[in-house]
Order: sequence, then structure tokens, then C-alpha cells
Amino acid sequence: MATTTTTTSSFVFLKSPASTFLMHNDHFRYGNGARRRRSSKPIIIKAQSEVRKEHVVIVGGGIAGLATALSLHRLGVRSLVLEQAESLRTGGTSLTLMKNGWRVLDAIGVANELRPQFLEIQGMVVKTEDGRELRSFNFKEEDQSQEVRAVERRVLLETLAGHLPQDTIQYSSRLASIEATPNGDTLLELVDGSKLLAKM
Ligand SMILES: Cc1cc2nc3c(=O)[nH]c(=O)nc-3n(C[C@H](O)[C@H](O)[C@H](O)COP(=O)(O)OP(=O)(O)OC[C@H]3O[C@@H](n4cnc5c(N)ncnc54)[C@H](O)[C@@H]3O)c2cc1C
Repeated sequence: MATTTTTTSSFVFLKSPASTFLMHNDHFRYGNGARRRRSSKPIIIKAQSEVRKEHVVIVGGGIAGLATALSLHRLGVRSLVLEQAESLRTGGTSLTLMKNGWRVLDAIGVANELRPQFLEIQGMVVKTEDGRELRSFNFKEEDQSQEVRAVERRVLLETLAGHLPQDTIQYSSRLASIEATPNGDTLLELVDGSKLLAKM
């Protein structure tokens, strides 16, 4: 079963393609199949090329990735979001969202949590550098259903993340490569060498 061995000062790590076990045993098997006797120390059989299976994997925990994960969650579909950063990338200022953006946030059930936190912008005035007014318009006069609010990026990201099941976002996980397998699955490899097999 084991394919390679590594010895540390107190543990023997056996790397197998299957899974990880911790055993107290007097024997272990080398890659060539030979059985060797060892002192009674814990033996860890650790997966080297274990491929974790996920139904849906989303690469990038930005607004698009988290909104997609939340849409799926609302439909009862679990997904895994791979984010290269160590935590949510909440830097930046605000995003001005118009009615199409609010429709999306309504559909995924977070708009009413966000609306009271950000003033609705009534209109816009375009001026030259010396203050001369070039154009002004009122959003509602142009379109009664228009809704314009500048939403703080950090609040938007934290709100989306806060509605996801706890283990949805996997941080410090930078995608290195992605490829389709012959049976139609998608194989994703991270820069740390770990692999994921996704249906979508
Ligand atoms: C830090 C930051 C600050 C911003 N500030 C503003 C702002 O103030 N105002 C404004 O209007 N727009 C801002 N933007 C842009 C705006 O947020 C984006 O246009 C919009 O959010 C697009 O969303 P997105 O999810 O498609 O992409 P992004 O928000 O760019 O998110 C993409 C995510 O994917 C991750 N990622 C990328 N490559 C990999 C990989 N190989 N493996 C794993 N993860 C990966 C990134 O770390 C990032 O978190 C900012 C973007 C960022 C990243």
C-alpha cells in the first residue's frame, strides 16, 4: 500500500495514495514491499497524492465567487470556494451598485441587510475642473425602479461570507492548474500540490 517512506526523529511517515492513518505498530512496509521491524513508535501513513472530491469548486473568494457560492447554497447545493489569500480580501473602498446588482443581492437574500447601511444616491452632477456644471440627472426621474447605493466592499464581502456555511471558503489555496478529465470531471491542482476533483 505504501509507496515511499520518510523518517523523522520521532515518527515514520508512510506516504500512500490512499489516506492518512496513525498507528502504533512494530512493523511497516517499504515501497518495495519489504517488511521491516522497528521500535514501537507511532507510524503515520500519510496521503501524498490524495485527491479530495467536491461537487462544485469556485476559484476566487471575491464578490463574484462568494455570490455564486451563496446562490448555490440557497438552492441547496454545496460548493467549495478556493481563495489564495489568507483571509477575505476586504481592502478597497466602495462599489456603486445599481438596480441590477440589488436584484442579485435580493435574490440571494442579503440585500435587506445591506440597504439600511448605505444611503440611496439620488442623482449625479458632472462638472468641469473649474466647477462649471456640464450635466446633472436624477436617477429616479430617468427610471423609477432605479436604486443606486455605494456599498463598502468589506461589508459586502463579509455579509456574503457570513451567510455561507462555515467550511465553504478554503483560504491560502491558490489554484495552479485546472484540467478536464476523460470522464468529464475537473481536476484542480493547488500550488501546495494538493488536488481536488470537481464535478463542476
Ligand atoms: C483588494 C481589492 C480591492 C478592490 N477595491 C475596489 C474598490 O475600492 N472599488 C471598486 O469599484 N472595485 C474594487 N475592486 C474591484 C472589484 O471588487 C471587482 O471589480 C469586483 O469585485 C469583481 O469581483 P470578482 O469576484 O470577479 O473579482 P475580485 O474581487 O478581484 O476577486 C477575485 C478573487 O480571486 C482570488 N484569486 C485570484 N486568482 C486566484 C487563484 N489562482 N487561486 C485562488 N484564488 C485566486 C483573488 O485573491 C480574489 O480574492 C477591488 C478588488 C480587490 C481584489
